[in-house]
Amino acid sequence: MKKLLLLLLTLVYTHVSAQTIECDMHATGKPIIFSQKQKDSLKLTNAINAPYTVKIFVTVFADDNGTNRGATDADILRQVQNMVNQYQPQNICFILGGIRQVNNSDLNDHVKADEAAEVLPYRVSGFLNIFIHRSLPGLNGTAYGIPNTYLSLSGGAIASLDNTSTLGHEMGHCLGLYHTFETWQGTNPENVDRSGNCLNCSTAGDVLCDTPADDDGGVDINCNYIGGGTDACNVSYAPMTINMMGYGHRPCRSVFTTDQRDRMHAFLTTDNSLSPLVAHDILYTPVFGNYTVSSGTSYTLAREMVYVSEGNANLTVNGTAQQFFQAKKVSLKSGTKFSPAAGGKVSVKSNPYCN
Ligand SMILES: [Zn+2]
Repeated sequence: MKKLLLLLLTLVYTHVSAQTIECDMHATGKPIIFSQKQKDSLKLTNAINAPYTVKIFVTVFADDNGTNRGATDADILRQVQNMVNQYQPQNICFILGGIRQVNNSDLNDHVKADEAAEVLPYRVSGFLNIFIHRSLPGLNGTAYGIPNTYLSLSGGAIASLDNTSTLGHEMGHCLGLYHTFETWQGTNPENVDRSGNCLNCSTAGDVLCDTPADDDGGVDINCNYIGGGTDACNVSYAPMTINMMGYGHRPCRSVFTTDQRDRMHAFLTTDNSLSPLVAHDILYTPVFGNYTVSSGTSYTLAREMVYVSEGNANLTVNGTAQQFFQAKKVSLKSGTKFSPAAGGKVSVKSNPYCN
């Protein structure tokens, strides 16, 4: 009986110690804070209210022999749609360039702690890359850095019907957001009270003042905070349990605040790595003179419209070229010629993820 108890205790302990955490994005260094002047200037620059369109590409790993694929296309598309729904109110939308399977057993079981750099060669240029691994031990997801141009998710987080928010959460880190409960290694937790000496919301926590202070104290299945903690000024925490950048209960998370939106827009506009991943609203191709594409892979992606052979110049795609067109609408005018050879491909798609 004692032995059985010991065995049970060992099993319980093993289970707890191998627990999967939501993500491991602890902010390091100094917080990146935009000054009021920078924010005002960005508001002028971005006066047109068109959505920011982020180009994304999904690489799903499988074992060397093609088995144990990290996730199905159907589950990936369901989670992309969840993310689209979370970002749409904040004027951010997405174009999914593609989903590809890469057979690599090592990457399919990705131990982020010491294999982080192994995903780098698999980034598809011009996209914010989403990697899906059958196993990502200890993690639902990670964004590797804040901000960043790639993130990883476990197959379990993609397959789960209950977990609607890990993809959107990691995307939030990529677009510059910290956790609402960020403490800067304990040196700078945010206070609940925003007055007198307690006021620190613009430099502590997630450095945003419209997200309430959060101590990551726990959230029940009805989205109620159950932590009962108090801050350094002895005021009780009352975090926004539905915020995308807390941990809380995953089905509860669905909302970004206005300050979080402005911060993501600021990163998409000013960050040298992220701004090239934002699609134009309208594209014309070719721009100058008749043009033939015969090899390589190219993406012509826009938010609103892609016009092909609109003017006097005509586009031809042939040979082994792989050419992808995608926008809300794609217009192919007379003069456009597609004649792909073996290995070539032309794809014309309407993007469903931008209003
Ligand atoms: Zn996180």
